[in-house]
Amino acid sequence: AAKHQGKNRAVWFDGSMERMLEERNRVEQGMRRGIPAGEFAPYYEQQIDLLTGKLHGFEVLARWEHPTRGLIMPEDFIPVAEECGLISELSEYVMRKAFTEARDWDQGLTLSVNISPAQLKDPWLAQKIIKLLTETNFPASRLEIEITETALFDNLGIAQSIISSLKNQGIRIALDDFGTGYSSLAHLRALPFDRIKIDRSFVTSINDDNESAAIVDAITRLGSSLGLPVTAEGIETAQIATSLKDLGSMAGQGWHYGKPMAIGQTRRLLADKDMLTSGPKKGVEKET
Ligand code: C2E
Ligand code: MG
Ligand code: MG
Ligand code: MG
Repeated sequence: AAKHQGKNRAVWFDGSMERMLEERNRVEQGMRRGIPAGEFAPYYEQQIDLLTGKLHGFEVLARWEHPTRGLIMPEDFIPVAEECGLISELSEYVMRKAFTEARDWDQGLTLSVNISPAQLKDPWLAQKIIKLLTETNFPASRLEIEITETALFDNLGIAQSIISSLKNQGIRIALDDFGTGYSSLAHLRALPFDRIKIDRSFVTSINDDNESAAIVDAITRLGSSLGLPVTAEGIETAQIATSLKDLGSMAGQGWHYGKPMAIGQTRRLLADKDMLTSGPKKGVEKET
């Protein structure tokens, strides 16, 4: 630090930088306390088959139900968890809870779980996920793991072996946020993906922007020529859903279908749809 004089020093000790570091520290300490205290929870976002309109599964999205600061979103804790080595513990906690909660839902419903770039550096990641499935008795065939392109770019070697271990167990792999990273096409050839997810930046602007529409069209065609189902994320309106159906996207999710929900609301939705085959009785349901 003593080496950094002049300009750098001025930037480093700038008040806003100091506040950022304090905030980061506060988040880190909060997570060290909050993970074992059970403050983190999986929220569930509906994934819809666009042609039939039927629910086919949920994406699991982590939320921090902070006792005093309210609901905290992933962008405010995932990067910190990655930096300070807590991502593995957090991910394991959220997965275990989601597998346990979703185990008795309709067996046709899948769960999609996000994995961070930092986790793809862990050579034991696949074994950890498989162990969690065994412990919670959640079928591998109902699990899809979402990986972003950026993650692959950094760790192609380990990522390849993690993906093949997961696939050997019958777990499916989706390429998340497609279109925003580097060398997308090379990744599609190098790795045995089961699904492509079109980044929501293209989807939300599909009716306002010709380039976005052209990109969604191109990705959809690419998916169909590779034999991969395509999911569009960020479907905010009925008009967007209609445009996507016209382009041939197969699945979708977004606020038009529903925002990510806590377990209580998710169970009520499933009960309404009559898809809850053998979940816990109303009386023991834990509301969050
Ligand atoms: P993602 O995997 O691309 O997830 C989709 C994000 O888009 C979610 O944000 C979701 O709430 C949001 N979204 C869904 N539909 C719409 C829509 O119609 N309009 C708009 N504007 N947004 C929509 P969220 O929950 O804040 O998560 C952000 C990112 O954080 C996720 O992006 C994912 O990369 C990461 N993340 C979330 N949970 C976890 C987790 O448990 N582990 C890891 N490693 N990453 C996670
Ligand atoms: Mg995702
Ligand atoms: Mg995404
Ligand atoms: Mg995204």
